[in-house]
Amino acid sequence: MTHDVAVLKASKIASHVLAPAAGQNDKAGRFSTEAVEALGESGLLGLLLSVDFGGAGLGPRTFAAVMATLAEADASVAMVYLMHILGTVAIAAARPSAAQALAPILREIGAGRHLSTLAFSEVGSRSHFWAPISRAHQNGNGVRISAKKSWVTSAGHAHSYVVSALAPEGAGTTDSTLYLLGADTAGLSVAGPWDGLGLRANASAPIALDDCQVPSDFQLTDDGAGFPAMLNIVLPLFSLGSSAVALGLCRAAVAGTTSHLKSAKFEHLGQSLGESLPTLRAQLATMQIDTDGLSARIDDLVEHLEKPRETTMLRVLESKAAAGDVAISVTSTAMRVCGGAAFSKHLGIERLFRDAHAGAVMAPTGDVLREFIGKSLLGMPLF
Ligand SMILES: Cc1cc2nc3c(=O)[nH]c(=O)nc-3n(C[C@H](O)[C@H](O)[C@H](O)COP(=O)(O)OP(=O)(O)OC[C@H]3O[C@@H](n4cnc5c(N)ncnc54)[C@H](O)[C@@H]3O)c2cc1C
Repeated sequence: MTHDVAVLKASKIASHVLAPAAGQNDKAGRFSTEAVEALGESGLLGLLLSVDFGGAGLGPRTFAAVMATLAEADASVAMVYLMHILGTVAIAAARPSAAQALAPILREIGAGRHLSTLAFSEVGSRSHFWAPISRAHQNGNGVRISAKKSWVTSAGHAHSYVVSALAPEGAGTTDSTLYLLGADTAGLSVAGPWDGLGLRANASAPIALDDCQVPSDFQLTDDGAGFPAMLNIVLPLFSLGSSAVALGLCRAAVAGTTSHLKSAKFEHLGQSLGESLPTLRAQLATMQIDTDGLSARIDDLVEHLEKPRETTMLRVLESKAAAGDVAISVTSTAMRVCGGAAFSKHLGIERLFRDAHAGAVMAPTGDVLREFIGKSLLGMPLF
């Protein structure tokens, strides 16, 4: 699969599967199994996976474009896809001793039949995902884990969960290890409903792990190496993917607002809203400027990920922080420009507005990213 083919496939799925159902799934808080099936059949579930496992072996540039295309139609599905891609890269980067046991799972992902996700955040440490409260306990040829994972996208729908827990002998709060748990693991259960303000159709429910046994060949990282894996393998692509979700939301807001300003009329003036009011045109222009600014920022991040250098981690942190703010600003302006028609839910703009608020809340949150950026500029330790 080439870059162009991948984006075309995403575009077809977005217009044929996602867009027609996004409003209804949002209303009902319904997870779209059809979307996951379509992504699997198209080969997009294996987008970044090596061709050795049936994946497409593509990189961050294509990933960003696919993400933004999906998010423009339905950000809930885009977030399901993002978490799957992150789960997949974590599995694919597993330590050599796990390679044999994990190969069949990677092949299933390559064949489009396996959905994965991340289960990092815990009730006890909230947005500080780098500091799990749960601890793995050595048990024969493996570990046992009990944990309260507070938000897990695709909970109850994923086939596997990449789970963090403190290493059995870990001394510090970040001495974690990553493990892979199949959805059928005894003791793993969805622990509550998902009824969010936004991203309502992505099943980001809590899951409970009750004394789950994990064999040693499903331990993805060495003991204590979970934290560097989160920072170096997961975080860069999470930042890129969530920035692309924000971009998709902004593009949808610009398109929806443009369409409304062209079609809604002041009949007594014989003009459309857009023809009649310069203030609405100016606000639409600001939305477009901010959207294209975010797009340029994403291109810059892609370039940094393709050719890593000293400033790459700074760009990773900056991009997610900025994208969350831009998405909120652009969709808020869309709400104001479209007025009562948006407020009364006639345009789908308010779904974009609600979905846009998730980005800044998802860890590392916009506030935490600013803390990290400020500390790193001042040469202070981040943790
Ligand atoms: C739709 C959705 C899907 C999610 N999916 C997943 C998933 O698949 N897997 C997963 O592991 N997690 C997931 N999460 C969880 C997410 O990543 C965060 O952990 C969670 O949203 C944080 O919740 P909280 O507000 O309770 O955090 P809190 O820590 O209580 O944060 C409260 C406020 O304090 C601020 N704050 C916290 N610490 C600092 C600090 N050091 N400096 C400055 N400000 C700070 C925060 O920015 C926030 O404004 C998801 C969340 C959402 C909303």
